[in-house]
Amino acid sequence: MNAHGFPTTPDTSDNIPRILLIDPSALMHRLLRTRLQLEHVEILSATRGEEGVQKALELLPDVILLETEFPPEERIDGFELLQRLKEDARTKDISVIFVSESRETMDRVRGLDLGAVDFVQKPFEMAELKARVRTALRMQKLLRMLAQCAQRDGLTALWNRAYLDQRLTAEHSEAQRHGRSLSVILCDIDHFKSVNDRYGHPFGDEVLAHFATILAGGRASDVPCRYGGEEFAVILPATTVDEATEVAERFRASFEAHRWRRHPDLVLTASFGVAALSPFQPMLTASELVQRADDALYHAKRGGRNRVSLRIKSDAA
Ligand code: GH3
Ligand code: MG
Ligand code: MG
Repeated sequence: MNAHGFPTTPDTSDNIPRILLIDPSALMHRLLRTRLQLEHVEILSATRGEEGVQKALELLPDVILLETEFPPEERIDGFELLQRLKEDARTKDISVIFVSESRETMDRVRGLDLGAVDFVQKPFEMAELKARVRTALRMQKLLRMLAQCAQRDGLTALWNRAYLDQRLTAEHSEAQRHGRSLSVILCDIDHFKSVNDRYGHPFGDEVLAHFATILAGGRASDVPCRYGGEEFAVILPATTVDEATEVAERFRASFEAHRWRRHPDLVLTASFGVAALSPFQPMLTASELVQRADDALYHAKRGGRNRVSLRIKSDAA
């Protein structure tokens, strides 16, 4: 994840689930460690509330087990800690299970209303706690898959337009804050309508999927997206306009060089437009950046297609 909570790569991890226990009782930490040591989980610990929030931010656990009561000197209780976790985009989706001695119905209601996924009463049977943690982990996984599906294009598995818009805004503010470059490549397959018309829509889909694999073959930090139809975009954080132009040229050459198994004589091409936010041009908004890349793409199409154009100034030819 980056600072904005966006996954930098698709979540295919099968890492060991991590559980953060935030509880002032040392006994509870010992108990959990001994009883869960043979389980396929990693236990992280915090005995103070603030420390717990910090660890949640740094370590991004899958599940947090949170006590409601903290010693008076901490001047914060579990409910307020939960609120803090829910207010931060980086921690708001972590499943929190309250583990508390409270027998008050109103505490359970308050905890669940604040966004906890469960409320377990102390003393508890370890088997029950384990089952509840497993349920929380299952739900967490499903929610992540769901969130990711909503951001993915079904045909190419690249990020979709909605994700591109959010991610570009986030990368744009990061780049401005740190005075870093940020490039955008927009690309469009040439004469794609006639590919569909001559070879059929299923082959057209195959072409789109192949083009997507080329775009996905760049740096891990690059963000390839399907912009719509046969148009694609790649966000390249910390990349200058010259570097992005080289990357686009590599994509262009690779697509042109591809031999299609079912149509060995067919040569397909694509056009590319590059624009960048640089330390010399830091004032462009995210949408102006895309607009410039789009102008450059139009320029590449008008210039004969199968080429890379860049737009340094909005009034450049
Ligand atoms: P240009 O070189 O100017 O870009 O011409 P073009 O033919 O590529 O552009 P045009 O916008 O006329 O046609 C785009 C075509 O892309 C039309 C549309 O049917 C096709 N298309 C859009 N989405 C899909 C898809 O998911 N699968 C397939 N097979 N075709 C698609
Ligand atoms: Mg096209
Ligand atoms: Mg098009």
